[in-house]
This record gives sequence, C-alpha cells and structure tokens, in this order.
Amino acid sequence: MNPIEELTPKVVWKNFYALTQIPRPSGYTEKVANFLIDFAQKNGAEAFIDEAGNVIMKKGATPGYEDRETTVLQAHMDMVPQKTKDCQHNFETDPLDVYIDGDWVRARNTTLGSDDGMGVAAAMAIIEDNTVEHGPIEVLITKDEETGMEGAFGLKAGELSGKYLLNMDSETEGEITIGCAGGMDILCTMTYQEMNLNPEGMLAYTITIKGLLGGHSGIEIHKGRANANKLMARILFAAVNTNLACLCSWHGGNMRNAIPRECEAIVVVPKDKQEEFLALVEKCKNIFLEEFKDIETNGFHLTATLSQNVPEKAVPQEIQENLINAILTAHDGVLRFTPSMPELVETSCNLAIINIADGKAEVITLARSSQDSMKQYLCNQYIACFSMAGMEVKLEGGYSGWQPNPSSPLVAMASDIYEKMYGTKPNVCACHAGLECGIIGVNYPDMDMISYGPTLVSPHTPNEACLIPTVEKFYNYTLEILKNIPKK
Ligand SMILES: [Zn+2]
Repeated sequence: MNPIEELTPKVVWKNFYALTQIPRPSGYTEKVANFLIDFAQKNGAEAFIDEAGNVIMKKGATPGYEDRETTVLQAHMDMVPQKTKDCQHNFETDPLDVYIDGDWVRARNTTLGSDDGMGVAAAMAIIEDNTVEHGPIEVLITKDEETGMEGAFGLKAGELSGKYLLNMDSETEGEITIGCAGGMDILCTMTYQEMNLNPEGMLAYTITIKGLLGGHSGIEIHKGRANANKLMARILFAAVNTNLACLCSWHGGNMRNAIPRECEAIVVVPKDKQEEFLALVEKCKNIFLEEFKDIETNGFHLTATLSQNVPEKAVPQEIQENLINAILTAHDGVLRFTPSMPELVETSCNLAIINIADGKAEVITLARSSQDSMKQYLCNQYIACFSMAGMEVKLEGGYSGWQPNPSSPLVAMASDIYEKMYGTKPNVCACHAGLECGIIGVNYPDMDMISYGPTLVSPHTPNEACLIPTVEKFYNYTLEILKNIPKK
C-alpha cells in the first residue's frame, strides 16, 4: 500500500491514489473514463459516458434526504502532462510516482494531477461512502478541460437535473469562486513569397530569449512579467528599422493560454554591421534586465549567436516591417481591471504564439474578459492592427464568462457554513482564468454554482503539490454543504 492511501480522509486519498495510477493526460482520457464507469457500477451508482466523452454518475438520496434538491458534483478527469527536462515518464502509459513530502503530496518529476484529481476523488468518495448524508447526487466528470474545455462545451441541455453545482477545480482552500472570465482565440495568418538573399557579405545570427517566468495567462497576467515575443519585437524593431538586420524566421511561445517564456529569431546581418548589431542586442539586454529586475527574479537569457549557415531566403522587406510593427503595437497584458473589484483583472491578452517562417506567418493570442463588450473591443484592436499588416484575422473558440451572482442562495449558504465550521469568513471572489462553470451555465442558466477546492501550488508544472491538511477541510466542507442543501 502506498503511504498516501493512509492519509485522512482515507476514502478520498485512496481514490486519489487510484487515479494517479491511471494515465490520463488531456486527449487520452478513455482509460480513466472506463475506470470511473467501473467504479460507479461497483458502488451501485448509475453511470454513463455522454456524447462529448464526459462521465455522468447518479446516486439517489440517503434516507431522510429524499426531498432535497439535486446537487451536481463537478470535476475534470484529464491532467496537464508536464515533466522535468530529462524525465523519461510516458504520460500515456505510465502511472505517476507519488510521494509525501512533509505537509505536501507530490509526483516525482511530473505534474501530480491533483488539478483536478482531487475533485474527482472527492466525488468518488461521496459515491462510495454510504455513511455520507445527502440528497440526490449527480456527478459530472468532464473531459479535456485543460486543452479547451471540450467536455463542458459538449454537455447537452437536459443531461443533468441538478439545481446546484459544486465545481471542485479551484486551488486555494478557504476561497469560494463565484465568477470567471470568458475567452476568445485570435488567429492572425498570412502567406508571403520569400525573398532571395545573396549570402555574400552576410552573417546569420540566432537571437534567443529564454528563462523568463511566463505563467498562466489568466492567473498571472497582472504580474507584469516579460513576454518573450514582445522583447523580441523591441529588438527587431530597432534592428530592422536601422537596416542592421533582416528577418528570416521567428518562433515564440507554444501555448495559447500561457505567457510566452521563450522566443527565437534568425536574422541576417551585413558583415560590416556585425559590431553595431551585437552592441544593439547587448544594449537591449541591459535595458530589459533593468526593467524587469524586480519581476523576473530568476534572471533570463538573451543571446545572439553566430550560426554557420546563412539562410538563402528571408521575409520580404515590407512584410517584415509590417509584421514587426503590428506585433510591437498589439496589446499585451492587462487592458482593464474590473471597475467594481479593482484587484481583479477584467480584460487581458497574452500575445501567446508567433511563428514566421517558410512563407507563412501566424500570430495567436487569447483574449480574456468577464465583459463581452470589452472582449470584443480587444479582439477588434487585433483585427485592426494585424489587418493593417496584411494578415487575415479570425476569432475562434469563444466562450462565455461566468457572471458573479452576489445574491445566489448557494453562495450565501456556502459562506455561512464555512464560517461556522472554521471560524473565519471564506474569501468569496471571481477569477480571470476560465472555469467550466461559465460554459456549463450556457445550457443550464438556472443552475446555481460555486467553485472551490483544496490548496494546490504550481499546477501545470512538475512542481505541482497538494497541501495535505486542506484536503480534509475541503472534503468535510463538501459533506456539510450536501447536508444543508435545501428542500425542493
Ligand atoms: Zn483544473
């Protein structure tokens, strides 16, 4: 037996451990979905997989609670597959190597999947434990939350009948989330005829930016961290406009919902301008280090290295100027904080991914806002900016925010219960990231929802850890809410 299975409450940790032994990276959730169906059947709950791949379980009320409203317990089955650089772990086939580290549970060299395995484990515990008191329960375990919330989008109206929904995918115990931002992918593309270069008298340099903190583009966008694509745009704007360099290719960022940490561009430089070019890169580096010294506390690398092969093709002069100008101009970071909650970001974007090479250019950003009109304003800025550069701009994958409802009976009840149990008021808040509640709410407009969970740190990284004592608090809190769900 793994020591994790001995932690309290056992029924939660045992199920969590079982989940860590089933490979379940986003996009490969069939195994875990079948495992959950088996689990439900063994425990006498009705269960099925819906058309979108979500697992839905239903369990009747325990004696004395038959007249209560139905409650939906919701979590997602997939996890973010991240590992340390030299780790050999295969997320599609290997179980996680989990261990206890003081007050924390971690996985060796990989993400732990407590986001959102803890939510799934809590729902399983409630299905399994016949001593828990509750009204009718529906469990909704969604598919592929981490890569675009496919399961939540695919959930049909009428599949669930619950009046209340407890989303167990938040990361700070003592916090109740009641609203979140919506999002929209902005995709700018163009093709161009490459320009032939005469390699005579030319040198090729690779400009590399790496080691930035990056981070989640919803949760960390207000921290003022450096965006690798923006730093590159500033260097190239200076170098290309002064004819020190000509752009051949640019690759920056790789996830639409992250602040880009790395960027690489290949440029050619006339031999007689070599020193001037290197001095410019050095000057930019010193400026950036100074600007970000209190934010990018790990430091970062900005280098220009001479490469052996001088490319034979480059981006045509006018197009590279247009692209660099547009990228430099395009909004990045917080556009506005929420007027009624000044510490909460309302609207932002992250200039996430740039690829320019081989006659094709693309710029991808994720716009987030809790206000649809502000989201549209930001999207229009991108349309205006990048269409001036000759790019085609498409908006895709839009999803709704979750508007906070301060007069929600569930929020009032959940806050009271928390205070009674733990002697302090919970922090009732909204977040700038996307949660499935907003998407589920489109087909279930009358469902009253909250989101909460145990404390997790560094989710989506190999440092992910779950704070052991908060799991018991979170689980007992869930049981108390279930006991207090009102009568029909
Ligand atoms: Zn999650």
